[in-house]
Amino acid sequence: MKAIRIETTGGPEVMKLVDAEVGKPGAGQVRVRQTAIGLNYIDTYHRTGLYPVPLPSGLGLEAAGVVEELGEGVTSLKPGDRIAYGTGPIGAYADMRNLPANRLVKLPDAISDETAAGMMLKGMTARYLLRATYVVKPGDTILLHAAAGGVGLIMSQWAKALGATVIGTVGSDAKAEIARAHGCDHVINYSTEDTVKRLRELTNGKGVPVVYDGVGKDTLMVSLDCLSPRGMFVSFGNASGPVPPLDMLLLSAKGSLYATRPTLMAYTASDADLQDTARDLVDIVASGKVKIPVNQRYALADVVQAHRDLESRKTTGTTVLTP
Ligand code: NDP
Repeated sequence: MKAIRIETTGGPEVMKLVDAEVGKPGAGQVRVRQTAIGLNYIDTYHRTGLYPVPLPSGLGLEAAGVVEELGEGVTSLKPGDRIAYGTGPIGAYADMRNLPANRLVKLPDAISDETAAGMMLKGMTARYLLRATYVVKPGDTILLHAAAGGVGLIMSQWAKALGATVIGTVGSDAKAEIARAHGCDHVINYSTEDTVKRLRELTNGKGVPVVYDGVGKDTLMVSLDCLSPRGMFVSFGNASGPVPPLDMLLLSAKGSLYATRPTLMAYTASDADLQDTARDLVDIVASGKVKIPVNQRYALADVVQAHRDLESRKTTGTTVLTP
């Protein structure tokens, strides 16, 4: 089999395509021939060492494929089943691998492999953020940073389907168009507009009850300043760099705010939570209310370029690697 390995942390060039052995699936595992792999910003954190992983390591947490062989004790799947996953284990950048059966989700015919590879991690993230971290209600107005990104385009469509008014921020006018076409009612281009001023205009000075912030360092203060009293700051990522330590008194001064730093892993830690989260995602995508825009495709061998494009803000929506 072929897989991407890193021996050290660093820039995209530390990723190397290598030949490796898969072996027989162990107890509770299945061997999967992967057909499509999802690219995620978290993969860059593993690669740079922002989120440390034991080295050498594979990369990637999300893919789709076909079950080829069962390990001992597996009864939930059979050879030929189409599956996908979005919570690892790390090492999805590969054409074949053994995976724990309990963390896999069976795919219905309505969801293609490419769609599944592009949606599992980002879409389950959208689901828990919108339906568990802060429960979005019809009539809510919400602020979502990086609205034209992978998580962003799924969240904006899903929030719209829940009856929210969605204000998205983006880094360019071209991305603003894309965000508008995927459920954003209002888009703020934060490279040319003052986000806080514009958001206050759009909300008649009130602010919003929740800000979803995957940008991190650059948007911390903006996010806090966009919240209404007792609003919730949901910091779920660090695309611009890690968020600096937060002064609790700031939350008091800005109106008794809440702040949380959630992870998909915590919201899908049990197999039951994983399957519930995935079912909601599969249902809403199958219904057509949320579309998965696969806007970039690369061969697995070109993953270095894929990381460069993601980190230089060239991508929109989802990116899929083909093994
Ligand atoms: P995106 O496709 O959203 O890519 C990141 C986007 O962030 C860019 O396109 C860019 O959009 C914006 N951005 C702003 N500043 C920078 C910067 N300095 N460098 C790079 N990008 C910047 O990625 P994903 O959809 O994969 O992930 C989005 C965020 O969600 C990430 O922070 C990720 O870590 C997080 N995440 C968190 C999870 C969790 O459970 N906590 C799970 C999944 C994802 P623009 O040009 O419009 O500003």
